[in-house]
Amino acid sequence: MSQKIAFECPVYKKCGGCQLLHMDYQVQLNHKKGQVAKLLKPYGKLEKMIGMEQPMHYRYKVHAAFGRDRKGNIISGTYKEGTHQIVPVENCLLENEKADAIIQTIRKLLKSFKIKTYDEDTGYGLLRHVLVRVGYQTGQIMVVLVLGSPIMPSKNNFVKALRMEHPEITTVVVNVNDKKTSMVLGEKEQVIYGPGYIEDELCGMIFKISPRSFYQVNPCMAQELYQKAMEYAGISGRETVLDAYCGTGTIGMVAAGKSQKVIGVELSKDAVKDAIAGAKKNKLSNIRFYQADAGDFMEAMAENKERVDVVFMDPPRSGSSEKFLSALVRLKPKRVVYISCNPETLARDLNFLCKKGYQMKKGAAVDMFPFTDDIEAVVLLEN
Ligand code: SAH
Repeated sequence: MSQKIAFECPVYKKCGGCQLLHMDYQVQLNHKKGQVAKLLKPYGKLEKMIGMEQPMHYRYKVHAAFGRDRKGNIISGTYKEGTHQIVPVENCLLENEKADAIIQTIRKLLKSFKIKTYDEDTGYGLLRHVLVRVGYQTGQIMVVLVLGSPIMPSKNNFVKALRMEHPEITTVVVNVNDKKTSMVLGEKEQVIYGPGYIEDELCGMIFKISPRSFYQVNPCMAQELYQKAMEYAGISGRETVLDAYCGTGTIGMVAAGKSQKVIGVELSKDAVKDAIAGAKKNKLSNIRFYQADAGDFMEAMAENKERVDVVFMDPPRSGSSEKFLSALVRLKPKRVVYISCNPETLARDLNFLCKKGYQMKKGAAVDMFPFTDDIEAVVLLEN
């Protein structure tokens, strides 16, 4: 296997963000496809792996922790894995370049505005983290300043100075996190510039992204993934579609334009709220979202003998539950499109479904996170 150095990074291995930087990109793709193919071999074959054309700077959500080094200089970057020790990051190969430039400017401005970084041990100081989210299609940019206490001196001038260097910033939000916690964002928020959210477009749908909303980190590949999922679903316009583990409803919304009716189910209240707002924004009247455990919801649907033609399921890393899968078998949709961020639990769940009458027809691995170990896959099952 060719292992030529693909990219150099001064903090590779220290920061923990990448695991495969030493591998040529094509080798990474082969390596990932091979892993999925091996796990899914008993069930079916994979199509060509979907990789990125430009596998760099794909993270449109960038987070930097702020602090000081031993000499007292302000630093920003990622936490060394498993610690709260900051590894300084200047330019990251995975992160959006504008986001990184904004973080650098903030570091510079802190000095002139005499804003101190927060000290986790003493609770002294102000700025804890900066979160930047960039719209992939729209280019809108949101900056979230996470502070240890609610008052930010000269905040308007700070925004002015920041926007002077980065006029593409469309909104700035102060988030207050005064707790001793490893969570980045706190509960309280104050919009100090712009609308407090950005919008982005994926597969022709518009999505509203607030500081805390879930949105794909790599929107470019999310689009590829959804397109593949739609191709597998083969919706013609008359189907009733279920989007299980729907998050903010992205997959269901993309499917809604092509189906008769879409039902989305998701456990997180906040995500469901965003999903409902998204459906309204996109003027979709044939989609409904429910907050529930997907297993309970499926069981109730099976109990009521409801008809579902296509099921999209996109569970968390732990995979689906036996409750969900058993109810799915009872509901017996013609097609199931399983989107997975963990091929091991995907294989486990396929084992269950393939014993109960489903067959894997197609599958593809998608590289959502180049240079990392993460693998995404999408599989079509038919009854
Ligand atoms: N399909 C979405 C997100 C999938 S991430 C997208 O493409 O953007 C997996 C989602 O499953 C998360 O939103 C998580 O909150 C949700 N989830 C986890 N356990 C669940 C359960 N038991 N029932 C329903 N949803 C669940």
